[in-house]
Amino acid sequence: MIVSKDPNEVRDQILSWKSEKLSVGFAPTMGFLHEGHANLFVRSAGENSKTVVSIFVNPAQFNDPEDYLKYPINTEGDLEICKSSKVDLVYLPDKDTMYPGGIPEVELRIPHLMKNLDATTRPGHFEGVLLVLSRLFHTIPADRSYFGKKDYQQYLVVKEFVKVLGFPMEIIGVDTVRSAEGLALSSRNARLIGQEKEEALLLIRALRLGESLIRQGEKDPSEVLTVMRDVLDSSSKIQTDYLEILDANTLEELPILKGEILLAVAAFLGQVRLIDNLTVKVS
Ligand code: AMP
Repeated sequence: MIVSKDPNEVRDQILSWKSEKLSVGFAPTMGFLHEGHANLFVRSAGENSKTVVSIFVNPAQFNDPEDYLKYPINTEGDLEICKSSKVDLVYLPDKDTMYPGGIPEVELRIPHLMKNLDATTRPGHFEGVLLVLSRLFHTIPADRSYFGKKDYQQYLVVKEFVKVLGFPMEIIGVDTVRSAEGLALSSRNARLIGQEKEEALLLIRALRLGESLIRQGEKDPSEVLTVMRDVLDSSSKIQTDYLEILDANTLEELPILKGEILLAVAAFLGQVRLIDNLTVKVS
């Protein structure tokens, strides 16, 4: 496994693979890797000749400076996970390589997909994601890039961004990996303490309850939201950031529940902000 901090070396290696007609899959990450990430890598390794992973905690996408400073780091452990998940190259840029001269003043937006959920509650977040991905995609001109549907809005925004800007790359969405109890795996879970780990399960409990109401025929989003909100409100440790039911393709509000529906939640447990979602299809 090649490990490099040098963007030129990384790009040359990828271009060399491509000149040999080897396909390249890419999974961008912020590190502190877990099985959710490993699942992306293994999926990529199954669909491409070479798999590339980047690990970079991107300051441009943190709207909360405290969250950035506290973001967990474990490069040694990450490299072990990459090695055992069939990764061929790990790109580990530092901040100065990624943003020489600091974070540039540029605003990248996909307005129709960036008007609710995390786009509203984390101003500037997706702009920062699109900035780092633009830079990463130049260094790593992969054939396919893999994104987790845990960050569902990110997946949709990136897919549209790549399409409208004409990056010759396919964006693949991968299902959320959960703990046995149902908690969506996240690097931020490591910051949950004591009882918070138990209470975090209320996110998936609320989502699954909403899903089952919709499957039973409930068509009114406000009815479903009320029941879901009650689940979250049953814990005094949970502070809901958003709870929304939207069209899963357009992220528009739905007056009547039909088609492919996204149920999405973000909540704080103490200082830790968690997100999760489910999609459900009804006719
Ligand atoms: P992050 O390191 O949090 O920026 O995540 C890097 C990639 O891994 C993103 O595409 C995430 O959506 C994906 N990811 C993180 N957690 C999970 C999970 N539990 N299941 C599937 N994908 C995940």
